[in-house]
Amino acid sequence: MIAGDQRAPTTQARELYVTVRPIAHARERRAILVAIILPAVGAALAIPYLWVHGSGWLDWWLFAIFYFASIIGITVGYHRHFTHRSFTVGLRWRLALAVLGYTAGQGPVTYWVSHHRLHHARADTADDPHSPLDTRGLLTVRSFWHAYVGWILGADRKANTAVLTPDLLKDRALMRLERWYLPIYLGSLLLPGAFGDGGDRPAPVRDRGDPSRRLPAPVRGAAGRFHRHLGMPFARTTLVQHP
Ligand SMILES: [Zn+2]
Repeated sequence: MIAGDQRAPTTQARELYVTVRPIAHARERRAILVAIILPAVGAALAIPYLWVHGSGWLDWWLFAIFYFASIIGITVGYHRHFTHRSFTVGLRWRLALAVLGYTAGQGPVTYWVSHHRLHHARADTADDPHSPLDTRGLLTVRSFWHAYVGWILGADRKANTAVLTPDLLKDRALMRLERWYLPIYLGSLLLPGAFGDGGDRPAPVRDRGDPSRRLPAPVRGAAGRFHRHLGMPFARTTLVQHP
């Protein structure tokens, strides 16, 4: 997502922002859109899937563990440790916190930390990358959108890591890990699916004569729900399997 060209620390760098080249900007924008849309689409598809196939405790545990891991990665790792240096940890914990943060899909550590440090240093001024206030100091729908999503997609400038995160750039182990950001993030999306048990509901009876089998899963799910509503609790996965 983030080009590494401005990561090398230069003593001459004084600017808070670096301009993103148009091609790199378009590429990053696409990557960010995928990172925003893909998990949302996955979550939306999971609802009818669960309805039809059911779910087991392992699925819910995986959901909770991976969700909690990314929260810890961002709040404890990216925010408190890497941005504000609120506490120190050894190398392994530092890298572990970075990996947990990667799973949230909010960018590599240097990207997140440079913008957040800039946000604190220039809060609600023109230099704040994501102030919820517009140039008149007012909160509007547009400035609200900008603060949450617009600033990531629309900005043709990025916080200058050479100026804002020189401490991280000197951290060789972290810099090596940063190259693995994308595979780790994508892997974290796929990993729960590899472990999940896909439901603990008994396998539905296969009735080849049942025309509802050929309906799309969400429709079958809705039909099954209707049957259950009528007091036929086992008719959820196949419309003919009434008790
Ligand atoms: Zn902060």
